[in-house]
Amino acid sequence: MNAYSEGATSIEQALVVFSGGQDSTTCLFWALKHFSKVHAITFGYGQKHSAEIECARKIADLAKVDLHFMDVSFIGKLGTNSLTDTSIEMDQEKPAGSYPNTFVPGRNLFFLSIAAVYAREKGIRHIVTGVSQTDFSGYPDCRDSFIKSLNVTLNLAMDNQFVIHTPLMWIDKAQTWEMADRLGVLDIVRNETLTCYNGIKGDGCGHCPACKLRRTGLEAYLLSQKTVIDK
Ligand code: ZN
Repeated sequence: MNAYSEGATSIEQALVVFSGGQDSTTCLFWALKHFSKVHAITFGYGQKHSAEIECARKIADLAKVDLHFMDVSFIGKLGTNSLTDTSIEMDQEKPAGSYPNTFVPGRNLFFLSIAAVYAREKGIRHIVTGVSQTDFSGYPDCRDSFIKSLNVTLNLAMDNQFVIHTPLMWIDKAQTWEMADRLGVLDIVRNETLTCYNGIKGDGCGHCPACKLRRTGLEAYLLSQKTVIDK
């Protein structure tokens, strides 16, 4: 049995697309509350910071979740982006009329398609991903319409009944922290995950766009809790 999974509400299994970041880690623990057995799949797409993968391994061990690592480094070589190419300086903000260079074209399309093939092999039909339309930073493959469309496509492609779950789709970063707290894993998410574009675990470098988004959310959530306690 996985750790943290006591009282799961479904007898079915789930596969979590897992990076070791705040969002997918929250989703991993969400899945543990909902499914009898949880598996995780982590992708190496040539990201500069392999520390991400180490974080994913450590968290999976902690949660006693089987983690399957898949090398998909060809994705980073297909297009130009600052997450896999060290010679490109990262956009700090979304440029007007285009995507930030942290956008890896096709990433979620590839990840979810590969995850679905792997899930099918394992007899799993529930797939969980931490994408969010609320904080989607301009990435088109984080939108609900894309996920719904891909879900239909995957079912048609493999004659399966996959269900893609997106627990974070309509919530912001503060609410994602709230979810982690309710799941009893706020400290794990805060200290063991890596979201920072500069590869620093936990609270990160503090100034890259991912750290800013994460910190602003955490501060908003902690402040709302303080307000509740003060009342
Ligand atoms: Zn950072």
